Amino acid sequence: MSSKIPITIARGDGIGPEIMDATLRILEAAGAPLEYEEIQIGEQVYLSGELSGISKDSWDTIRRNKAFLKAPITTPQGGGYKSLNVTIRKSLGLYANVRPCKTFKPYIPAYCNDMDMVIIRENEEDLYAGIEHQQTSEVVQCLKLISRPGCEKIIRYAFEYAKTYDRKKVTCMTKDNIMKHTDGLFHEVFKEISKEYPDIETEHRIIDIGSAVVATKPEILDVVVTLNLYGDIISDIMAQVAGSVGLSGSANVGSGRAMFEAIHGSAPDIAGKDMANPSGILHGAILMLDYLGLSDYAKKIEAAALKTLEEGIHTGDLYQEGISTKKVGTKEFTDSVISNLGKSPNKIQVKERNAHPIEISIEPTKPQPKKLVGIDLFIDWNSDDRNPDVLGKILEDNSTDKLKLKMITNRGVKVYPDGMPETFKTDHWRCRYVSKSSEINNSDILELLSAVNNAKQDVIKTENLYEIAGERAYSLGQGE
Ligand code: NAD
Repeated sequence: MSSKIPITIARGDGIGPEIMDATLRILEAAGAPLEYEEIQIGEQVYLSGELSGISKDSWDTIRRNKAFLKAPITTPQGGGYKSLNVTIRKSLGLYANVRPCKTFKPYIPAYCNDMDMVIIRENEEDLYAGIEHQQTSEVVQCLKLISRPGCEKIIRYAFEYAKTYDRKKVTCMTKDNIMKHTDGLFHEVFKEISKEYPDIETEHRIIDIGSAVVATKPEILDVVVTLNLYGDIISDIMAQVAGSVGLSGSANVGSGRAMFEAIHGSAPDIAGKDMANPSGILHGAILMLDYLGLSDYAKKIEAAALKTLEEGIHTGDLYQEGISTKKVGTKEFTDSVISNLGKSPNKIQVKERNAHPIEISIEPTKPQPKKLVGIDLFIDWNSDDRNPDVLGKILEDNSTDKLKLKMITNRGVKVYPDGMPETFKTDHWRCRYVSKSSEINNSDILELLSAVNNAKQDVIKTENLYEIAGERAYSLGQGE
């Protein structure tokens, strides 16, 4: 039986095949005990009519193997083609996006002091659930979904990552001063889990000032854990500031399976010209070797790649007069890395590590006592100069014995009762009803909906208001 680890590879589009070939040659020369199962994904698959960019057989291969090394692909413009990356991440439950980044001055110019940090981004939830609706002429919405298990998985992963890679500090970034329930949950779970890791320093930063720190003082950060959208934005800021967009790889990690890639795209402008720098996907492959428990091979290849960088042997994207010694194409660069296998860089440090796959298991959340205390009705209303007092009167006149109208907000700001005339009003009104008695149930909600419907008001959606475990489980209106 072969002792080689089978992995899935895809050569992708544009420069993908060239940089994948380069990476496979280096893995081979380093003796990495891997065998490859190749799948086709990307542009040709899309254009053959498969809107997801991947066939059923390819899914079977990806699901069979622990690791998938993926070259960049080109998503054709228009035509309803779905992002393959998002599809793969979500279908396979790859909940952690891990992007390490460091500076390599003076070989690569950077806009910051020397830094070495990792962003661990939640990969499945948040606004990326893609649940969007338009229900009035003026207003569209996107649902931000954050779950306790989702927070627990990514935050535990961040701490376990810090432990495995000997990192000293984990910084959580959220906007919980505004989104007290969604971002608040992420921060709360961070505080809970951090208690289990007393040897790791922890801190929380609000994402706006946190992003400014990533842009100007990233050297004070180590591991950052954050929600999907914020992570997406700050990981690009980080790579740009470090000057290492062309060098960085990333990992998308799930339970028992992970996908590795470069952070750049398929660069069609230089495809087939032997100009592409294969370092991004090579660093993706290094993350993969660590993930597979093959850290010795990971370190050997990382050392050879960084030695080549130090020697000034650079592809066109990194070439600079005075720093570089030789401008090379993809193939010659690859030959140089191969000839440096077994050597170490003089100045750049290659971190010691004894990595292993990080598997996170979480307990199911225990059901909490839940009490229905009211409802928000969202109404599409566009008459009487949008005077909220008129809508308030209609609703007050058509209320029920169990539920009373407490307030109306427009885009979150209270406009009834006692709103300010200056507040701008759209056609989208949130009408908050609270229970008059201590016990209400869904029949009382249906009775209210019926009354409002009889008053010819267009209810476009509803949100129940609960107390969960005795705590208010909804936000107050601004001015409530
Ligand atoms: P890109 O990253 O492909 O290219 C941006 C610029 O950087 C180009 O000038 C390119 O020549 C250069 N560049 C990128 N990688 C390089 C490398 N390894 N060596 C040398 N130069 C390199 O971004 P783009 O032009 O916005 O996107 C091109 C295509 O890639 C699009 O179809 C996009 O959808 C796709 N894309 C795919 C992925 C992925 O598969 N993960 C990610 C991003 C973009």
